Amino acid sequence: MRRIPRRALATGSVSTATVLIIVNMLTLMVSTTCIALSRSVYHHRHHLHRYARHHSPPKKSFPCPLWSSSFSFCLQSPHKATSLSLSNTCPSASAPPIAPQALPVADACVENNPLLQNFEFPPFDVEAKHVCPGILALLKKLESNLEELARIVDQLDVVSGMIRHLKAVKDTVELRAAIEEVQAEEVKFELRLEQSKPIYNAFKALQESPDWNVPRDAQKRIVENQIKGAVLNEELEKLSSKFAENVLDATKEFEKLITDKKDMEGLPATPLGLAAQTAVSKGHKNATPEDGPWVITLDAPSYNSIMQHARNRALREEIYRAYVTRASSGDLDNTLIIDQILKLRLEQAKLEDYNNYAELRMAMNMATVDKAEELLEKLRSASCDAAGQDMEDLKRFAKSQGAKESDNLRHWDIIFWSERLRESKFDISEVEEELRQYFSLPNVMEGLFNLARTLFEIEIEAADGLAPVWNKDVRFYCVKDSLGNPIAYFYFDPYSRPSEKHEGAWMGEVVGQSRALSRDGVSARLPIVYIVCDQTPPVGNKPSLMTFEEVKTVFHEFGHALQHMLTRHDEGLIAGSGGIVLDAVELPSQFMENWCYHRETLMGIAKHYETGESLPEDVYRKLLTARTFLAGTSILSEIRFASVDLQLHTKYVPGGLESVYDVDRRVCEKIGMIPPPPEDRFLCTFDHIFAGKYAAGYYGYKWAEVLSADAFSAFEDAGLNDSQALKETGQRFRETILALGGGKDPLQAFIEFRGREPSLDELLRHNGLLLVVA
Ligand SMILES: [Zn+2]
Repeated sequence: MRRIPRRALATGSVSTATVLIIVNMLTLMVSTTCIALSRSVYHHRHHLHRYARHHSPPKKSFPCPLWSSSFSFCLQSPHKATSLSLSNTCPSASAPPIAPQALPVADACVENNPLLQNFEFPPFDVEAKHVCPGILALLKKLESNLEELARIVDQLDVVSGMIRHLKAVKDTVELRAAIEEVQAEEVKFELRLEQSKPIYNAFKALQESPDWNVPRDAQKRIVENQIKGAVLNEELEKLSSKFAENVLDATKEFEKLITDKKDMEGLPATPLGLAAQTAVSKGHKNATPEDGPWVITLDAPSYNSIMQHARNRALREEIYRAYVTRASSGDLDNTLIIDQILKLRLEQAKLEDYNNYAELRMAMNMATVDKAEELLEKLRSASCDAAGQDMEDLKRFAKSQGAKESDNLRHWDIIFWSERLRESKFDISEVEEELRQYFSLPNVMEGLFNLARTLFEIEIEAADGLAPVWNKDVRFYCVKDSLGNPIAYFYFDPYSRPSEKHEGAWMGEVVGQSRALSRDGVSARLPIVYIVCDQTPPVGNKPSLMTFEEVKTVFHEFGHALQHMLTRHDEGLIAGSGGIVLDAVELPSQFMENWCYHRETLMGIAKHYETGESLPEDVYRKLLTARTFLAGTSILSEIRFASVDLQLHTKYVPGGLESVYDVDRRVCEKIGMIPPPPEDRFLCTFDHIFAGKYAAGYYGYKWAEVLSADAFSAFEDAGLNDSQALKETGQRFRETILALGGGKDPLQAFIEFRGREPSLDELLRHNGLLLVVA
């Protein structure tokens, strides 16, 4: 997922040469050694978890026609009676106008509604007018046709998932309205569906208990709790949805036209090209990268380029302030929504007899609240001195460059000077811009697929045209085993589209592997996922030239996708990433990022997009050295996000004396970071925890990074230059971590792969911090 708080700090990983270092807000606490910087590796990494599906054995075989595009004529088709005629009509404003003599909208929209077809690949080119009648028809069908329960529930699940996915990547007013309209009906029906089992269980328990003779009160309470829980879920779903919409709208709302060339001083060619391209799209037809005008926005590529490179300090300050105050005022203010979400989550926890929401969410996780806090504290103490030194270095460097602000670096200075220090330290001018020339999207994908072939013995082939997509830039791929049999499919949506697509990067499941939901009654249904990124789009006629951080992001999301696609399970509840606890889910993704530093892999993808030259050896060496640049600072920044998240879901009292912003400031002080400026409202865009699935789970990134670093060290132990050893270790990784997924306790799966329990040392070593704690 994307757009973030610290992204304010943008994207970079301090540990990479191309990345930014974002020291967000930090200013050091002068008298102590501990400080505050921040890393920005804050991608939005959303994982759209699928919840329980109802399965039943296949009852009949289904033909497998690919979905046909005839739906676009549905309003003109002749009316046929349908068994699905609805009592609910679809009065949505999103329905296009039709002639008076034409069919009622609902019937017409049901007739050839693509959501109701027996598709293999979801119709991602659906229109908003189909949402309401499609979902309502499925609900109606479900109610009246229990025999087909499993398939219909599954289809409803897939269709709902794809519609929400479209909202994230192709947001429109019509789609929002359609989803809002149908949401209440969906929740109501799910509630009825879910009621039956708890009630049955409650009766059974009561029947077998000594209190059987006086069951009424207890039974009543169980039923009441179920109903109350479902109502809370519905409210929370609405609030999260509104939160994400506000972030998107607030980000879209801002744009700054720049006409004076001096204001753009310092920006490399790619961001200049992007800003001019944006200007053209906003009506400034003659805009050019060299002479402007340029338009700056708050979506990641634009915002980051200003923070990293703009010499105009006042411009950096203006853009920074706009960024950290998004969605915090007026109609788009998320402040009250945050408090309401936290209040309802606490109620939800109490309803289930937990002390707080973190306990509820973490009940099945590897960590407990105490263990998560213990890990964060160990990381803090290992990073603190290094982070303090980072800030001192930064100040000294800024001073040496004659920066007037060197003794008083503000948040909008830190990323800029970190970038200059990195360039100076690693002797690469305009590192990121230079590196971009070596990372063209086609080469990166080819290198990634080669790596997957080596490690996991899979072939990935383009399958564009086989399935409908939601945008012309979306690619579709088929994954095959070593015998050439298809085993999975995935979509890849690479570019930032600020006008309709949420920022960040994420992987989501379209369908899981399932034997019960086989389409032919014989072979299991194959898993399908989508990988969504927000990288720099192509500028002019060049291919998309990626930053190193964007390259790592693609590897990251591909790691999630692998776990879903290479599952050995064919029962939906545990297949792929479905049943994996949150603090283990980032293992394969973060594991894949390590390969971006693997010499053979990197040199395989880093070819100059025009000349085909390989990345110069000395640049590769610098990239490696730069991996640990500002690592301490970066870790502190992530500890901030994780700690604020845990605090808000354990001790925070909604509506109490302390505001959520007070909590954030207190956490920053405790960690050793100077608090954010008073107007900072990053929580208003922290959609990982308010709109995504990471509530009380942000610590999971660090928890899983311990696992992923240690897993990668198995490959280091085997020999990174020994292709046979890599193959064997890769196969073991595939058969354990990737294949077992949610079907096995994650600690046990890890031990099966590694031969022992995980160790924190490997993560510290990769970050150059091991000596600090030795
Ligand atoms: Zn992830």
